[in-house]
Amino acid sequence: MTLSLYRKYRPQRFKEIVGQDHIKKTLSSAIKNDRLAQAYLFCGPRGTGKTTTARILAKAINCPKQKNGEPCNKCLSCRDFTEARSLDLVEIDAASNRGIDEIREIIERVKFVPNKAKYKVFVIDEAHMLTREAFNAFLKTLEEPPAHAIFILATTEPHKLPLTILSRVQRFDFKRVAPQDIAKRLISISKKEGLRVDFQAISAITEAADGSFRDGEGLLGQVASYVGKRIKLADVELILGISDPKSISKLVDYLIKKDAKSSILLVNDLLSEGHDLSHFNKNLIEYLRRLLLVKTEAQTARELFTDFQKPCEQIKKLSAVEILRLIRTFIEAGREIKNATLPQLPLELAIIDLVGEQKTDESPVQAVVAEDAIDPPIPKKSAKKNIENQIDNQISPKISKKIVSLANIDQMIDLWPKLLVQASRINHSLATLLRSSVPISLKDDTIKLAVHFKFHQDQLLSEKRQKIILKLLRKITGKDFQLDCLLAQEVDQAMIEKVKKKIIKIDRKNEENLLKSVVEIFGV
Ligand SMILES: [Zn+2]
Repeated sequence: MTLSLYRKYRPQRFKEIVGQDHIKKTLSSAIKNDRLAQAYLFCGPRGTGKTTTARILAKAINCPKQKNGEPCNKCLSCRDFTEARSLDLVEIDAASNRGIDEIREIIERVKFVPNKAKYKVFVIDEAHMLTREAFNAFLKTLEEPPAHAIFILATTEPHKLPLTILSRVQRFDFKRVAPQDIAKRLISISKKEGLRVDFQAISAITEAADGSFRDGEGLLGQVASYVGKRIKLADVELILGISDPKSISKLVDYLIKKDAKSSILLVNDLLSEGHDLSHFNKNLIEYLRRLLLVKTEAQTARELFTDFQKPCEQIKKLSAVEILRLIRTFIEAGREIKNATLPQLPLELAIIDLVGEQKTDESPVQAVVAEDAIDPPIPKKSAKKNIENQIDNQISPKISKKIVSLANIDQMIDLWPKLLVQASRINHSLATLLRSSVPISLKDDTIKLAVHFKFHQDQLLSEKRQKIILKLLRKITGKDFQLDCLLAQEVDQAMIEKVKKKIIKIDRKNEENLLKSVVEIFGV
């Protein structure tokens, strides 16, 4: 299921565009009253609807049945525009066609009357990328455009356009989309696609989208194509490499307690789970900034945190100066993460710098080496060890390596959800990791899995995780297997989809057990 949700749900009339009210109103009334400008400038952040608006404008001005400035979307002309077949809409990406020759070619095309439509519309995307010569050549056309030509320049960086151009266009500034508008749209698309997405997962996608519909919808599609129709926060986090906000708050707790060992373990766990530490550090700094704003009473905790109880506790234990020191130290660490050979090292140094002398007699470095860094530090290590011992005890240690294999991969797929349940009892991140993979073949005693990302492959093939997975498999099947993991692009896509669907189907039956604690927002 490869979804390009952004394309699929691209608005087809002005009123379907969320936000940008002033632009929609001005444009549709100009169309209605036939008072069009010949050149427009659409500027604003990426993913805010500039190209979409340009296409609707092109369609509406050429629709013979246009009503209140909106295209009918039914006539032949509208359908040509919607399906990107119209020869009277010329879209140029200035990022890849920035030179004088490309612009000359466009200028030549401007002279020809429209193919079928009334107006020929030229959309120049990323217009700021044009070279100075290209702008100069284009300027002449812009000064005396033929009556049938309409130009729309779209750009994220209007300040890079020459004044001579700016003075000849009607400018519209597209605003960053409000988070609640993005969230609403993601929810509505999820419903249409039959996706069941947790509220926290929607929030995480919205936050990562950072004001861009395209990014939000792109991410939702990516997560859906990767985990199926049931989307949880952990799935989104794995894709984004976002750090769980809980990890941030936990780290701040450890720092308050001056617990270097737990802090460093947490950082190393995040790394081994595939999180991007640079991203984590950025989120951490943002979190600390909010603590500081609340501490200095610039804003209230209620305004800045969804779950504000924990931050309030932390604020009581920290002085403004201490928060400031944390922020400064992590900003410094952030500068170094990108170039560090060991990405965790700058954070580890920052932690030691902040915490100072160790309380325990163990040095933090030894601590990291000594600990088994599979689990986040919160679940008690002893508890985890017990579970692993349980698995060990239940299985006779001397099972010979080569035993009869299951007859075929289908039997393994049937057992897969069971494995996921077992894995989730031992280790949440292992279960999530397994969910990101599909078993695609079983030959002799080797199970081949397919995953979409290299870091998932690395993690699944790491000695520690392999050991646990193979133990679990032995527990479930009574047989010994070997594990191999391929990247999805090396595998037949249709087969992956088939297996995924099958697992989801079996999985649904077990859902009750799996999803007890999940907040549902759909079908309510
Ligand atoms: Zn029409």
